Amino acid sequence: MMTKDALYRFMLENADTRGEWVHLDNSWQEILKRADYPEIVRGVLGEAFAAVALLSATIKHTGSLILQIRSDGPVHLLVVQATPEGYLRGLARWSSEPTKTGLSNIFGKGHFAITMEAASDNERYQGVIALEGENLSDALEEYFKRSEQLPTRLWLTSNTDSCAGMLLQRLPAQQHIEKDEEDWVRVNMLLDTLTPEELLNTEPADLIYRLYHEEAPRLFDPAMLRFHCDCNLEKIENTLRSLGQEEANTIIAEQGAIEVNCEFCNSQYRLDSVDVARLFAGIELGPASPSLH
Ligand SMILES: [Zn+2]
Repeated sequence: MMTKDALYRFMLENADTRGEWVHLDNSWQEILKRADYPEIVRGVLGEAFAAVALLSATIKHTGSLILQIRSDGPVHLLVVQATPEGYLRGLARWSSEPTKTGLSNIFGKGHFAITMEAASDNERYQGVIALEGENLSDALEEYFKRSEQLPTRLWLTSNTDSCAGMLLQRLPAQQHIEKDEEDWVRVNMLLDTLTPEELLNTEPADLIYRLYHEEAPRLFDPAMLRFHCDCNLEKIENTLRSLGQEEANTIIAEQGAIEVNCEFCNSQYRLDSVDVARLFAGIELGPASPSLH
C-alpha cells in the first residue's frame, strides 16, 4: 500500500538541498467526483493540485496559499487552494476540450497568480506572472526565479488514481559556491531520471534513497493532507451583505429564494425572504424614508 495523502520534507545533507515529496489520493478522488473532467484538463489540474501542496510547504506564509490561472483558451480558469491545516480544494473550468497537452494549447494566453493570505488579518500578498513554458512546472520554476531567489525545481505528475510531485530547493550558498553549483547540477540530473510511474508508485523513503543515497538524505515526519472545503453559510451571508439589500430583494422577488452552489464542493445554500430580512435587520439602511400618517 502506498502512503496516501501525505507530504514528506527531506534534506540532502551532502548537497545543501532541501526537498519535498507529495502524494494525493483520496483528496484527489474528492476533486474528480465533483466534475467530469476531460483527460487533458484532469491532467493539468492534478499537476496543479500536487504543486500547491508543495508550494504551501515551501513558501513562508501563515494562511491559505492559492494558485489561480485565468486565460482565454479552452480552459479559462483553474484554482487550487491549500490551508495551513492541510486542507486542499480546487477546480478547473473549460469552455471546450483541449486537444493537445502543453500550457498554450490548454490555456491559450493567460496569467497565473500565487496568493498568500495572512492567518489573522485580511492582508494578502499576490505575485502574478504570465503563463509561459511547456508545462506547469516550467511556469512555477519561473515564478520562483522571479520571486524567491532560491533555485527551485518541480516535478509533477497525475493520473486517475493519484497526483504526485517532488520539489528541490537549493539552500542559500555557503562558503563553497562552486561546490554548491556542482551539487545542484548533480541533484537535478538525478531528478531528471525519475519517471512518472516511479513518482506515483514508490514509497518516499525508497524513492529518495534510490535517487539520493550518496547525498546523505534525511526524511522528516510527514504532514497529512485532505480534501476539505471551508465554505459555510456565514461566508455566503457576508457575500450577500456586500451585494446589498436591494439586490438581494430583487433576486428574492424574481426567483423566490437565493440559491448559491459552492463550486468547490457542490454544497447548496438556500436563503428565502425571511433569511434575507434577518440578514439585513441589524444594518443601517441610510436615511429613513418618510413615514406616512
Ligand atoms: Zn464548498
